[in-house]
Amino acid sequence: MRTRFAPSPTGLLHVGNGYSALQCQQWAQRHGAELLLRIEDIDQTRCRPQFTDAILRDLRWLGIRWQQEVVIQSRRMACYRRAVEQLQSRDLLYPCFCSRAEIRRQLALSAPHHSLPRYPGRCRRLSNAERRLRMQSEPHAWRLDAAAAFAHVNGPLQWYDHRGDPHLVVPDQVDDVVLVRKDIGISYHLAVVVDDAEQGIDMVIRGEDLREATPVQLLLQHLLALPHPRYLHHPLIRDTHGNRLAKRNHATTLAGLREAGVTAAALREFLTHHRQWNDDFVRSHHRGHGRPRKSMTCEASR
Ligand code: GLU
Repeated sequence: MRTRFAPSPTGLLHVGNGYSALQCQQWAQRHGAELLLRIEDIDQTRCRPQFTDAILRDLRWLGIRWQQEVVIQSRRMACYRRAVEQLQSRDLLYPCFCSRAEIRRQLALSAPHHSLPRYPGRCRRLSNAERRLRMQSEPHAWRLDAAAAFAHVNGPLQWYDHRGDPHLVVPDQVDDVVLVRKDIGISYHLAVVVDDAEQGIDMVIRGEDLREATPVQLLLQHLLALPHPRYLHHPLIRDTHGNRLAKRNHATTLAGLREAGVTAAALREFLTHHRQWNDDFVRSHHRGHGRPRKSMTCEASR
């Protein structure tokens, strides 16, 4: 059995990421499973190699160990392209020329049917002739035609959680998501399903903020004939105001805590019992060499 921790090197790992890594490690230990590490760095506009190095260092400091070679997504673009081609050859993707500003404008004009903004569908309705013409000169993304994709589903599509309980995937949960971004040539959803399958992941453990990604990823697994792992969405660590932690607040990064003299053992112990972060922890656990800096107070993520 295998699980994985899959951070994106867009900044330093914070306490919430550390908690997620610990959840993966503890699950693996309880089940005699392997824990694999995958660096999700397809977005080269935001990811930095120095953050990848920092992630490896911070995880080791926290006592996280992983099996097998680390998978680096930016080296696997050819695999993702093959999956895209499979979907394109079955007419399940369409080119989308809309800019973000254009989508916002379309959304403002339409009545809100969903709590989450969904793609209004303008490019889904273009003729093939117009698509071909515009593709010659306009930059474009590729979106999943969710309705066409669901037509390939016979019978109920469901994902299973860590308890074995089924969760039905219904069309309302899957937007026409972008699978090939204009700027980076791929998307998070596609890379994740390809890699979870290739790494043989049985249990995906990640924060509950990614719960909405699960129906999309189930559908993609179905279309690409990939196995369905089970899913465990753990609660997020929040500060005393109920806000999520942010990578840009150095005070709550693993590196920041280490610099303040907090030991990995103390942090692991804290995270085993608490899900609310507060800076008293740092005051009581710094080793006394150097006072915690003023910036150590836990700020709300903005
Ligand atoms: N790379 C994602 C993140 O750092 C996690 C993706 C996943 O676990 O599926 O939020």
